[in-house]
Amino acid sequence: MSVWAILVAAGRGERLGSDQPKAFVKLRELPLLAEPLRRLDESEWVDAVVVVAPPGWEEPAILLAEELGCAKVRASVPGGETRADSVRAGLAEVPEGAAAVLVHDAARPLLTEAVIERVLAPLAEGWDGVVPGLPVSDTLKRVGADGRIEETVSRDGLWAVQTPQAFPADTLRRAAAAGGDATDCAGLVEAAGGRVKVVPGDPQLLKVTTADDLARVAALL
Ligand code: C5P
Repeated sequence: MSVWAILVAAGRGERLGSDQPKAFVKLRELPLLAEPLRRLDESEWVDAVVVVAPPGWEEPAILLAEELGCAKVRASVPGGETRADSVRAGLAEVPEGAAAVLVHDAARPLLTEAVIERVLAPLAEGWDGVVPGLPVSDTLKRVGADGRIEETVSRDGLWAVQTPQAFPADTLRRAAAAGGDATDCAGLVEAAGGRVKVVPGDPQLLKVTTADDLARVAALL
């Protein structure tokens, strides 16, 4: 079964406060993109990688892949206005024959081989998607614009979902082609009526949003 990974890296990352797009902000000496790219390229489970770069940064992304010695990168394409648009741009580079697609946020650098295996394995059981997640442990409040708590939301059955997310290639293609928007790929597949399974994620798969997150990831490396 051939597995194509789509690394979505086209976010602007405005909350990082840098004049560069988030994927090219430095994590130690290299752009943030380098760590998840190298880890996907080295994965035994991944056959080919498509990078979805910030528009205008397709070539620097390819040069970075070359510098890192990544042998599986097949394309670097510009992303879209939303994450779902960027996923559609990446999917356009995945050939018809691909069996499964693994979509990963470049903003989550600390990808492990174990989590890749956990999301890919259940596809053989007929799921329309498999995503890593962690049960929510904080107490959840809905808060109004003035800072006042409006309600406490029960956390029963609530999970915080991460990437990488795995799908049969045709399932994700059909769901994405419907043209909808969602903050993750599972949302697109759910909207198309798909059955998506959650497996244990990894606390280290935190998403870099702020400069503090970047420092935490650097410390964990
Ligand atoms: O914006 P958010 O934090 O949800 O982004 C998650 C991932 O999706 C990031 O890796 C980001 O680069 C990517 N993204 C993208 N294209 C967009 C918005 C986000 O590739 N238009």
